[in-house]
Amino acid sequence: MPDTILLIEDEAQIARTVRLYLEQAGYQVMWAADGDQGLAAFRHQEPTLILLDLNLPGGIDGLDICRTVCRESNVPIIMLTARREEIDKLIGLEMGADDYITKPFSPREVVARVRTVLRRARQPDEHSEILQVGDIQVDLAGRTVTVGGTPMNLTRMEFDLLVALMRYPGRVYTRPQLLEQFLGIPYYEGDERTVDQHIKNLRQKIETDPRHPRYILTVRGVGYKVAEA
Ligand code: CA
Repeated sequence: MPDTILLIEDEAQIARTVRLYLEQAGYQVMWAADGDQGLAAFRHQEPTLILLDLNLPGGIDGLDICRTVCRESNVPIIMLTARREEIDKLIGLEMGADDYITKPFSPREVVARVRTVLRRARQPDEHSEILQVGDIQVDLAGRTVTVGGTPMNLTRMEFDLLVALMRYPGRVYTRPQLLEQFLGIPYYEGDERTVDQHIKNLRQKIETDPRHPRYILTVRGVGYKVAEA
């Protein structure tokens, strides 16, 4: 069974091109031209991944769809937006999307991102282990995080970032390293704020005092590390 990508995009020309490239890459593609169709397709066709345009005509826009999908399932979402600033805003809102692509994009880039996100979503639970630093406990198989026994609700990216840092407490990672190796996002200039925003969100969830973090430490001029236990 080929993976099915649900493409929710109102611009027919973009949809046609993206669809063509995805099909050539071996994916099956469903196209929905507005939010209503998109949600219906999500609920009835069980896509493997959703490519979601932020600005859609009609009553349901990309944000609404993203919220609904994240609430109802684990289906990975890649958001398509027209503006770079929108991406920062979306990350700030913790929409739970797995990746973001700015228009105009090359269809090849879309195919590459789809592959990366699917690979990441499917990482086998080969490490059925528990990572622990101080009060923070991460169950890799169950993909759950508790702080002092209280379950924390992390986005997929926050979880992956935390795991990356917690595997080797004390080891310092640069922002490009975190982006490329652990979040699977190709690094280019300007992206560093993406990491900072995820770290900020993560601190708000797992640190008692996010302004004076105890676990996720900034290494000035370099990047981040998790404190050694
Ligand atoms: Ca649009």
